[in-house]
Order: sequence, then structure tokens, then C-alpha cells
Amino acid sequence: MRLDGSADAGRPGALDEAAIIERFFRRPSARDDVLLGIGDDAALLAPPAGQALAVAVDTLVEGTHFHLGTDPRALGHRVLAVNLSDLAAMGAEPAWCLLSLSLPRPDPAWLAGFADGFFALADRHGVALVGGDTVRGPLAATVTVHGFVPAAQACRRSGARPGDGIWVTGTPGDAVAGRLAQADGADAGDPALAALLARFLYPEPRVAAGLALRGLASAMIDVSDGLHQDLARLLVASGAGGELVVEALPLSAALTARAGGEAAALALTGGDDYELCFTLPEHHAGQLVERARAWDFPVTRIGTVTAGSGLTLLRAGQPCALPPGSYRHF
Ligand code: ADP
Ligand code: MG
Repeated sequence: MRLDGSADAGRPGALDEAAIIERFFRRPSARDDVLLGIGDDAALLAPPAGQALAVAVDTLVEGTHFHLGTDPRALGHRVLAVNLSDLAAMGAEPAWCLLSLSLPRPDPAWLAGFADGFFALADRHGVALVGGDTVRGPLAATVTVHGFVPAAQACRRSGARPGDGIWVTGTPGDAVAGRLAQADGADAGDPALAALLARFLYPEPRVAAGLALRGLASAMIDVSDGLHQDLARLLVASGAGGELVVEALPLSAALTARAGGEAAALALTGGDDYELCFTLPEHHAGQLVERARAWDFPVTRIGTVTAGSGLTLLRAGQPCALPPGSYRHF
């Protein structure tokens, strides 16, 4: 596409699409499965024989997913992170991505920050940007990622069986606590708060954990809309029910310090965590703990899959409602 109709299109030094791509997005690829990257009508890629291609796409739109004035570096990180998290939840290994950018006006400082955040994360996961599109319009970014997984080892949402344990990586609730604190105008100099805010602005997709869980997890989902809601989706897809022990939730010290008695509510309903929630047959528990240690990711068992349907919360062994302070998504 062309960035047409711009008032500054004819101005000397104005950035047109080709200049934007050349200056901010075209980089040499370290991957030998990229036969042809940015610059032609389509990329040419060589998927490995015998593996399924896992593909996901996510869009961030100004006003819906972030507000004007959001650090472009955080945005560049985030739009890739949310996609890598989807691949992680399938047990797929990320390889390539496409980036479609809609820009109200090409701002070099904004583009430099966005590209920095984007490529810092892409490089850490060995992901090559192989193409995209650049158009004029409301601020929005769409990333499509491609990864590989042996088809039989892909972790679907639908494989949970009664008796399986329910587990989660990391400490859900941190990201929403960071987001709410920022919205409240809390003191950003406070290190505990800065840690929570970083969990919101720079979510770390659990790619290594996703790979480690291949062949172990019976079902998996990434936590974007809140642990309670996403686990409920997994259980519906599996045609099963579940019990979640509220006291077993892994709450970070920073979250508890910030949210007090509402920490569990935020962990259950806050969202934006990009942790992995998965189910695991009991006989794999030993291997899971070994792999979590070897691959260095935290996991906690928080419940059990049951026959029937619906997700029941247990507190002191008794069914209970979502605790006070639960966050409502709009
Ligand atoms: P076409 O008009 O044939 O779609 P474009 O002129 O839009 O081609 O794009 C030229 C090349 O730049 C293509 O290889 C395209 O994939 C790539 N590209 C365009 N925008 C981006 C972007 N934001 N990030 C990465 N690659 C991009
Ligand atoms: Mg194009």
C-alpha cells in the first residue's frame, strides 16, 4: 500500500512507506528458513517438514487497547508479545511474523521507539519480521506470527480430563495491579510499583514454558482476559468442569502489598497477564516440576478438573463466589 493523501507527502524529507520500511523495519534475518524477506510482493518461507504451522494474529487499536501517549516502545513490545503468547499456549516455537501498521502521520521518533520495543523482543525469541503493510489511518498495529509444532504435540484447549491438575505459570494479577496503579497516578518511583507496571507494559510471553509443556499438558490457554474467564473457556472447550482453590493462587509479594485483601480478586479477573494456564494428568506432575526447574519457569497447581461443567471456586474447602474487588472487563 501507499501512504496516500498526506498533506506532507510532497514535503522534502517526509517519510513515505518505502522510507519507513527501509529505515525502521528492514533488517538482515539470521534465519535460514527465510528464503525472501521484506522487499518483494510476498515473503518466501521454508517451513520444516513434518511440523504443523501454528498461526495467530492480534491487533492493538488506539482508544480500544491503549491510550494516546502510550510509550511506543511498550506498544512495539506488546503487539508482538500478545501474539507470541498465543503461540506459546499451543506449544509452538515462533519463527516468523508480519506487521501491519496504520499511522495517522509518520513520526520518526514514534517509529524508532516502536521498532526498538518490537525488535528487542523479536531478537530474544529468534523471530524474523518478513513483511507487512504500512497505511495512513487511525493508530493501530496488527501482528501475525507463525510458528512450528509437531501436530500431535500441539496443546489445544480441548484436552482436559477429570482428575487432571489445573496449573498456572508465574503470578497472575500483577499486570492489572500495575495498570490500575498507573491510572491512579501512583508514585512511579516506588520500585515495587515499577515492577508491577513493567508486568503490564512489557509482558514476557511464556514461550519456553509452552515448549517445555509439549507432551505433558493435556490442555492449555494463555491468560489474556483473566485467569477465571480463560480457564472457564478451556473447561468449556474440554467439556469438563473444574475446582480452583483460591488459597492456592500464586500471589506476588508486590501484588499483595498493593492490593491487600483484593489481591486474589485481581489474580482471578484482572487479565493482561500472558501467563499460561494448563491442565496436567497426575502422572506427569513429577516431570513437570523437573522441566520447570530445568527451563526456569514458576508453576503452581491451583485446582483440579472435574466431571460435569462450570468452574467452581473453593475457599476453605467451600464453594464461593468471585471475591470482592473482582475486575470487570468492558
Ligand atoms: P505491496 O504494495 O506489493 O503490498 P508494499 O509496498 O506495501 O508492497 O510493501 C513493500 C514491502 O515491504 C513488502 O515486502 C511488504 O511485506 C513490506 N512491508 C510493508 N510494510 C511493512 C511493515 N510495516 N513492516 C514490515 N514489512 C513491511
Ligand atoms: Mg503492501
